[in-house]
Amino acid sequence: MAISVWEQSTYFAPKDLVIVGCGFVGLWTAYEAIHQNPKLNITILERGTIPSGASTRNAGFSCFGSVSELMSDIQLMGEAAMLETVKMRYDGLQRIQKVFKAKEIDYNQWGGYELFEGKKTNLESDIAYLNKILAPALKTPKKNGTYLPIYTNASKDINKLGFQGIEALAFNQLEGQLNSAKLVLALQKAVQAKGVQILFNTEVKKFKSHKKGVTITTNLEAVLETKQFLVCTNGFAKQLIPGLDVVPARGQVFVTEPIKNLKFKGCFHFDEGYYYFRNLGNRLLLGGARNADFKNEKTYSLETSATIQKVLEDFMMQRILPKGSKKPKIELRWSGTMGIGSIKKPIIEQVQPNVYCAVRMSGMGVAIAPIVAKKALKLMKG
Ligand SMILES: Cc1cc2nc3c(=O)[nH]c(=O)nc-3n(C[C@H](O)[C@H](O)[C@H](O)COP(=O)(O)OP(=O)(O)OC[C@H]3O[C@@H](n4cnc5c(N)ncnc54)[C@H](O)[C@@H]3O)c2cc1C
Repeated sequence: MAISVWEQSTYFAPKDLVIVGCGFVGLWTAYEAIHQNPKLNITILERGTIPSGASTRNAGFSCFGSVSELMSDIQLMGEAAMLETVKMRYDGLQRIQKVFKAKEIDYNQWGGYELFEGKKTNLESDIAYLNKILAPALKTPKKNGTYLPIYTNASKDINKLGFQGIEALAFNQLEGQLNSAKLVLALQKAVQAKGVQILFNTEVKKFKSHKKGVTITTNLEAVLETKQFLVCTNGFAKQLIPGLDVVPARGQVFVTEPIKNLKFKGCFHFDEGYYYFRNLGNRLLLGGARNADFKNEKTYSLETSATIQKVLEDFMMQRILPKGSKKPKIELRWSGTMGIGSIKKPIIEQVQPNVYCAVRMSGMGVAIAPIVAKKALKLMKG
């Protein structure tokens, strides 16, 4: 479709900032930018009819890391990088709660648990160590001048929660859960109210950086000019910027029918975060198991696979629901695309003159996105 002169001078007029990707990171960046400078002319380009990456297709944990995950992250990227990443997630979680009312995004702070199969003899020492280094770094709540523990040993609750074959349990009282699509919609509404334009069904095909800005070619007839261009396409980042250390990782999920007397509330992690589940009212939402088929889950496909779905169903019956439970019907199955790489720190960097990226949320982008956005803006201003 050829564009009209009116469209050329409005929808497709030169912009101050064009963001590609209408997930959490793109939306939070637009949100922070327009609040810092209401005069900015900002457009978000999104190839889906709705955001079509991970932000509306995840499990809705507003989490910042379980005990075994953080201990493993220290091995992978060192204590300082782990602390920096966890602080970004924790601060992001505070930002979400400051900007949006709990009711708007179905936020519930029922806490998060990590389940362990074996005896986990070092649980107490891991908890003590993480509380000692994390509480002052995150500045978590205090009582009588002392930081309240973030993680506690909750193994005594295993029977009450009805799990099978689980021998230890760690609890994080600061973790919450939310409705991720409600958060995306609330962000969309907030930025559009301030004049940010969102163009759906618009795929960025390529871009060319030049002295005064960036020229963006899309599937539309129009070519867009912008002073600055920010890529927030997470798992798809390599399609636009091939050199980045980020690959797609499919995450698969299902939701059951309502389960009578579901025994737990909150977010639950297992096997360094490879399995995760939560209650959704009295239904069970369960996802993960990517480690059962790493090779085939490194994909952009949004299908679900029989292999992973079977592993998840077995996990539900053998670990989560009490022994002898009737198998609940699975009402919905879906998947989303995460962006992962050699370490879990997000990539926030300039890739060419006037071209920046904020990608690689490493499967935990709900809480971190507001801070990734602030850091990306700071970099662009610099
Ligand atoms: C199944 C699953 C469960 C998860 N559970 C959790 C959880 O409980 N808690 C948590 O913190 N995190 C979770 N995550 C991860 C979290 O959802 C992501 O880290 C986060 O949504 C990433 O946000 P983003 O904005 O960086 O990317 P995305 O939400 O993926 O947004 C990128 C957008 O870019 C668009 N796009 C890509 N290429 C182009 C192009 N060329 N032109 C135009 N548009 C383009 C895509 O359509 C997409 O909408 C989960 C992820 C999955 C898949």
